[in-house]
Amino acid sequence: MKNILTIDLEDWYQGIELAPSAWDSCESRIEHSVGKLLELLDESGTKATFFVLGYVAENCPHLVREVSSQGHEIGTHGYSHQLIYKINPSEFSSDIKKSLCILEDITGKAVKGHRAPYFSITNKSLWALDILVENGIHYDSSIFPINNYRYGIPDAPRHPYRIETKNGYILEIPISTVRLFSKNLSFTGGFYLRFFPYRLIKQAIKKINDEGLSAVVYLHPWELDPDHPRLNLPLRISLTHYHNLASTEKKLRALLNDFEFQPVTSMINEIDK
Ligand SMILES: [Zn+2]
Repeated sequence: MKNILTIDLEDWYQGIELAPSAWDSCESRIEHSVGKLLELLDESGTKATFFVLGYVAENCPHLVREVSSQGHEIGTHGYSHQLIYKINPSEFSSDIKKSLCILEDITGKAVKGHRAPYFSITNKSLWALDILVENGIHYDSSIFPINNYRYGIPDAPRHPYRIETKNGYILEIPISTVRLFSKNLSFTGGFYLRFFPYRLIKQAIKKINDEGLSAVVYLHPWELDPDHPRLNLPLRISLTHYHNLASTEKKLRALLNDFEFQPVTSMINEIDK
């Protein structure tokens, strides 16, 4: 069974709730981290879905062109990396339109997929799905069926499912979880991938595959760059951002060796056949 690999393409300082006005003063590491990621994917012949932040695409269009030309799928991660439940529908609509305009201009292809910054489509911001469909988005991968301080709808389905919106349906592709002690736990991305030992991650993916589901894995390029600058941040943010960064490359190599991955749309095309 093929699994799904997704990348949230953003620079290290965009995932830590800094105001966008502070971004310009941070050292850019995106060329280095994306280069390293593309090398690893190329070595194993793996294609993934990259949810690209519009701000990054605007400033580094060549990177988006490179990712797309290597056969990876381009989706949107919005433009300015705001928590969706903290902005209003009109702000979200402008943000998503701006990102789509930039991405489609660079690649010449329609963008079909969306991942919210910080998985921030929760019960407070389900209205965002109406806006995504209105803007031509076919699938979303933002509703994390887990309980986290920043995100999650713990009782949301754990498998791909359709959601009816005012403007038609959207397909939701949740990040994988495993049922343990009557709770959903995540092993397959970001902090969880860095925190858990690889043998548990491997077992979790096998368990998900045994249920007949593709495991949906997610990663940020900055997680492959353990030497990126360290800022003084609130403890919870600092822990989730910097913990065990040195382990990511080894774990990603093991994943690419032990499992087969494909982009989201390849899985959707297989379901639709
Ligand atoms: Zn992000």
